[in-house]
Amino acid sequence: MEKLISSRNSKNEISYFKAILQGIAKDGGLFIPKNFNKIDFNNKKFIDYNYHQFAFLILKNFLKDIPDDDLNKMIKNAYDNKFDTDEIVPIKKINDSFFIELFHGPTLAFKDMALSILPYLMKYSKKEENLDKDILILTATSGDTGKAALEGFKNINGIKIIVFYPKNGVSDIQAKQMKTQVGKNVKVLGIDGNFDDAQNSVKEIFNDSKFKSKLLKQNYILSSANSINIGRLLPQIIYYVSSYFKLIKKEEITLGEKVDVVVPTGNFGNILAAKYAKKLGLPIGKLICASNENNVLTDFINSGTYNINRNFKMTYSPSMDILISSNLERLLYHISNNNSEKINNFMTNLNKNKKYTISKKLQNEMKDFEGHFCSQKETLDTIKKVYEKYNYLIDPHTAVAYCSYKKSNTNNKTLIASTAHPFKFPKAISKALKLENNKNVFELLKEIEKRTDTKIPERINNLTSKKTIHNKTIKIEDIKKNIISFL
Ligand SMILES: *Cc1c(COP(=O)(O)O)cnc(C)c1O
Repeated sequence: MEKLISSRNSKNEISYFKAILQGIAKDGGLFIPKNFNKIDFNNKKFIDYNYHQFAFLILKNFLKDIPDDDLNKMIKNAYDNKFDTDEIVPIKKINDSFFIELFHGPTLAFKDMALSILPYLMKYSKKEENLDKDILILTATSGDTGKAALEGFKNINGIKIIVFYPKNGVSDIQAKQMKTQVGKNVKVLGIDGNFDDAQNSVKEIFNDSKFKSKLLKQNYILSSANSINIGRLLPQIIYYVSSYFKLIKKEEITLGEKVDVVVPTGNFGNILAAKYAKKLGLPIGKLICASNENNVLTDFINSGTYNINRNFKMTYSPSMDILISSNLERLLYHISNNNSEKINNFMTNLNKNKKYTISKKLQNEMKDFEGHFCSQKETLDTIKKVYEKYNYLIDPHTAVAYCSYKKSNTNNKTLIASTAHPFKFPKAISKALKLENNKNVFELLKEIEKRTDTKIPERINNLTSKKTIHNKTIKIEDIKKNIISFL
């Protein structure tokens, strides 16, 4: 049986099913695959693979205990006509850069790529583990995970989900998407605080054994749909692989040629998935970590010091407004040669002193990463420039990626993770395009539609007519109380 270990104690081994159900390790660490079995990508047969075949190739490499037929069924159900294109992840070329459009799923952001399949993996794990308890999923969101998780888990028997979002920290469309969520097993709560506050409180609950035994008495165990869950991370490897071979098919690169990737980064999940693709053998050169003005990661990559002693900023790219990037812990574990003692020290320092510094040696181990950030102004300028020059409208997160790419040192063809549909962020887009900005979001959308000749996606347009179901906002300290009352 394939196993994972905790980043904070290499001796703690666990199966994939248990890890997916549990989300985070009991010692507070993140689950890390014990084996990264190399795939021989130097093979022409992959050029004609479709998304389902790549999904099977990657997932089976880790989830060996799921029989082929069962895994294929999950993949087919996850990546079906919920996506508005059979390609699942189309590519848009601009010069030597290739925008991999990860926003064609039901909630128009890249979180759908993993959250379309996670519910199937969780249900399967529950069955395999003969779990007779129900699962309660607690999710902190910076805007997009929440909606994608709600869509994925709604009305699934035996699972309930509560989403916490920073009440002033998500875009109007993101908020509206969540507040109108239907489903008999879902709850959405705004919190007084930012994303880090939400994520920290949720993490604390996972470590609160008293609270957990209270839940257990009500027949619930906790799980997470955040990118700390390994079941989120694995499906994100797929599109780097599929996009690579798409470039070969389009004769943009030859088999074996290296590509660089640029990822607009928040919790470090998406870029870590690219690193995992590289660990499996995909010819990736540089990994460019793009940040907005919350540029903790840029500083970390350039200096070796991770320092959250700074002001939290609210930007045009809210899904990247994060100071504590959880998945970085996984990278630290890999570069420190699986030294969980070191990881414990870093995390203790981060907790106590709000910073830690890695050695020059470790820094050297991550020199395939490059960090850049873009200011608010640069973000808007990038949206405008790309639109005017190439007639291609990109969202603020993707703009941060493209702007960082322009600052980077790449020689290879480059994949740019395009993480959200531009119409999710009408305020920023209209500001960038210098449209009138005193209108409500739906009027803005119409104006952007008119100006750019791009249709408003139906999934956004129909939000106007949807009823608000979840209107409650709560204080951070009342989270537990609200969990109990929901159950
Ligand atoms: C979540 C998100 C990101 C950040 O991804 P991480 O995996 O958290 O680094 C970037 N852009 C958008 C639109 C997102 O929803």
